[in-house]
Amino acid sequence: MAEKQKVVVVGAGPVGSLAALYAAQRGDDVEIYELRDDLRDPSTTPLNFTRSINLALSERGINAMRHSGQPKLLDHVMAATIPMRGRMIHGKRPNGQIFEQAQDYDAHGRAILAVDRGGLNKRLLDILEGMPNVTFYFNHKLTGADFRKCKAWFEIQGKESSTGRAREIEIDFDLMIGADGAHSAVRYHMMKFTRMDYHQEYIDTLWCEFQIKRKEDAPENEPMARFRISPNHLHIWPGKEFMFIAIPSDDGSFTCTLFAPSEVFERLEINPDQIPSFFDHHFPGVTALIQPYELITSFHQNPHLPLISIKCKPYHYGSSAVVLGDAAHAMVPFYGQGMNAGLEDVRILFGILDKHSLIGGRDDDDEESRSAVVRSSQREAALAEYTAVRAPDAHAINDLALQNYVEMRSEVLSPMYRLRKFLEESLSVHLPGLGWQTKYARVSFGNERYSEVVARSDYQGKALVRGFFGAVGLPLLAGGFLLYFRHRGALKSAVRACFGWLCRSVRR
Ligand code: FAD
Repeated sequence: MAEKQKVVVVGAGPVGSLAALYAAQRGDDVEIYELRDDLRDPSTTPLNFTRSINLALSERGINAMRHSGQPKLLDHVMAATIPMRGRMIHGKRPNGQIFEQAQDYDAHGRAILAVDRGGLNKRLLDILEGMPNVTFYFNHKLTGADFRKCKAWFEIQGKESSTGRAREIEIDFDLMIGADGAHSAVRYHMMKFTRMDYHQEYIDTLWCEFQIKRKEDAPENEPMARFRISPNHLHIWPGKEFMFIAIPSDDGSFTCTLFAPSEVFERLEINPDQIPSFFDHHFPGVTALIQPYELITSFHQNPHLPLISIKCKPYHYGSSAVVLGDAAHAMVPFYGQGMNAGLEDVRILFGILDKHSLIGGRDDDDEESRSAVVRSSQREAALAEYTAVRAPDAHAINDLALQNYVEMRSEVLSPMYRLRKFLEESLSVHLPGLGWQTKYARVSFGNERYSEVVARSDYQGKALVRGFFGAVGLPLLAGGFLLYFRHRGALKSAVRACFGWLCRSVRR
């Protein structure tokens, strides 16, 4: 019987927890090391968030959970979600009238889901806890790793030795999965072993959380009456430079986020009493949903956080380490894909490892071929394939997420944007054989590779321009020529008269 492998997962966020579940399902010994305390302990505050926040979960994340081998996971997660079938754009007309405009995400009625990030994470931890081959190490911070010798060092948080220094432990592993977020220590140590290309960019936008409270006086037997605005939409108050969004929560409240350039935050920090009028000017209707004093308090109390976009390559070192999720490709949150892409990483990685029959005792007939050396070189090939497959896709969604910020805060109301959406959706509904879909639908409701989504969407854009030119431009041009040849004489004298008038005007 082949020896079990030891898989060490660093980071017990949604991606690390799902990766641990995939590895444990395949029979390996799994150890999870997490910097913070157990998330299920009510006193633990989620990293970067003042409380557990709501995220948009879509097909890629759902599909990764579907393939986890734990059907109850998906049932449980889905039961606590709220479908958001489109955007609700809030604005003000030139006459001062406040309006709402619903824009469905999909011509076929598909929806993305608002999910409590902490709830999803806790469910994963609960399942892992019940597995005999999984061990948790909370309050353990990765401080060093030698990927050639397969050894790592962790500092135990809050525990000091008799010398007053933090206690450190040394462990060994066969495979380390780094799912320790945007500021990944695994990635940092991996860079010492491999020639990793690395690019990070802070966009000049900060974000801060607010909350629209539930209606307290809503009747108990009418759960929908608890919501102050439609619960089935992702609400957007677009501003050219700023954006305010609201995502529904199960309890009737909304998690809201202000995105604005750092200079705006600085201005509001100096003059906090201008916060309500700033909202009235840029995000009409918000002060009717959040009391002005609550806006000021939240702005003061909640952190003003940066947004980072990270691209790197390769994602692995030899046969011993791989980074997933934000550790590999943190992205700005404007496509609602960060967590979804991270969960998809897990499905793709384990699909490739399975193909090479590496994780667990799936292919243990040939004992010889399961020797440690052979397994290690097979795993190296699998991890290299993972990097080759996944890097172009992760880079593509990073770019799309950056582009979508412009779309969300300004293009959503532009006639060109709406015309393209209308044409693509009409073709998708009336000529399904053509396989046309909007880029948004391909990203959020399918599992096509992100890089293919970009290629297909570019192709569709060009075909639309050509089709539009063929259907409208060519007949117009032909009509123009016909007119010219019929009334050549009259047109020539008209042009001459205009030219003469222009010259006289210029001379004057
Ligand atoms: P993380 O969630 O960052 O987890 C990393 C874990 O590693 C943490 O628990 C951390 O404590 C631990 N850790 C860190 N360092 C160490 C160490 N040295 N040793 C041990 N453990 C360590 N995504 C979506 O899909 N949809 C959305 O709608 C969406 N909205 C978002 C809105 C905002 C405002 C932001 C900021 C992000 C949003 N995202 C969204 C992105 C999403 O939150 C992340 O992509 C996702 O949380 C990444 O998960 P992860 O497990 O890779 O990393």
